[in-house]
Amino acid sequence: AKSAGRANFHFYQSAMTSTAVENLKLENDLRQALDNNELVVYFQPKFDSEQEIVGAEALIRWMHPELGMVSPAKFIPIAEQSLLIIDIGRWVFEQCCDLINELSDKNLTIVPIAVNLSAVEFNRDDLISHLLGILDKTQTNPNYIELELTESVALTNKDICIQRMTALRESGMSLAMDDFGTGFSSLSYLQELPLNTLKIDQQFVRNIELGESSQAIVKAVMALAKGLSMSVVAEGVETPEQFNFLAENGCDFYQGYLLSKPIPKVDFMAKLEAKK
Ligand code: C2E
Ligand code: CA
Ligand code: CA
Ligand code: CA
Repeated sequence: AKSAGRANFHFYQSAMTSTAVENLKLENDLRQALDNNELVVYFQPKFDSEQEIVGAEALIRWMHPELGMVSPAKFIPIAEQSLLIIDIGRWVFEQCCDLINELSDKNLTIVPIAVNLSAVEFNRDDLISHLLGILDKTQTNPNYIELELTESVALTNKDICIQRMTALRESGMSLAMDDFGTGFSSLSYLQELPLNTLKIDQQFVRNIELGESSQAIVKAVMALAKGLSMSVVAEGVETPEQFNFLAENGCDFYQGYLLSKPIPKVDFMAKLEAKK
C-alpha cells in the first residue's frame, strides 16, 4: 500500500508540474499575442424580451498559432497573474470604442457595448485616467460603454471601490455586476454600490428547468434588482423554456446561445444592418 501511495504521489506531482510548464508557455506566448495580432474581440448580442438587439458584450478570443483557439477561461487568469491583462484590457476597450465609432460612421443603430474588467484592472489607480484617455483619443461617447465587474472588485477596500465606481458613473459609463449570486458580497454592500445592472449568473439560468430552488433564486434576484432600481440581464439562456420563465418573471435583457453566440465584429455589424 505504501509503495502504491508513493507512485500516486509521483504521478500527481508530475501532473502538476506539466500544468505549471504549460501555463508558463502560455504566459510567454501571450506576451507576443497582442503584437502578433492573435487576439480578436467577439461580440455577443444582448436582446430585450421582443428579441431585438439592445447591446452586446465584448468577449476576447485568442487564436494561438499552434494550439488554435484558446479559451479565455484558460488564459484570462494567466493574464491577470502576469499583469498582461492591463495591456490586453486597454486594447479590448479600444476595440469597443472603434466599433461604436464604426457604427456611427455607417449610420447603423448604436447599441451600448459591455467590456469585462478584471479586479486587477479595476484596482489600478490609473484606471479612470486611462479609460478616459482612450474615450477622448477615439472621441467615443461614454454613454455607449458599460463595464462588467465581478463582486471580487469590492473585496479589498470598500470606500475606494465605491469612490471609483461613482467616478466611472459620473464620466457617463454604466456599470453591471457580473456573475451575480456566485460571490459573497452582502446585500447591504450591494445597496451601496452605484450599479445600473445585475447579470444573473448562467448557473442559475441553466438550472431553471431542474427545479424550484434555482427558480426561486432567479425570482429573488429580479425582485432585488427591481427594488434597487437596477435592470437585470440573464446570461447563458439556452432554451425557450428558460427564456419564457425569465420573461414571465420580468427579466429585462437576455444573452445566450438561444439568441446568439459571441460572433466576429463583421457578423455583429451585419445583424445591426438588418435591424436598421
Ligand atoms: P463572462 O464575463 O461571465 O462571460 C460569459 C461567458 O459565457 C462567455 O464565455 C460566453 O461565451 C459564455 N456564454 C454566453 N452564452 C452562453 C450560453 O448560452 N451557454 C454557455 N454555456 N455559455 C455561454 P467566454 O467567452 O469563454 O469567456 C469566459 C470568461 O472570460 C468571461 O466570463 C470573462 O470572465 C472572461 N473574459 C472574456 N473576455 C474578457 C475580456 O476582454 N476581459 C476580461 N477581463 N475578461 C474577459
Ligand atoms: Ca461578463
Ligand atoms: Ca458572466
Ligand atoms: Ca463567468
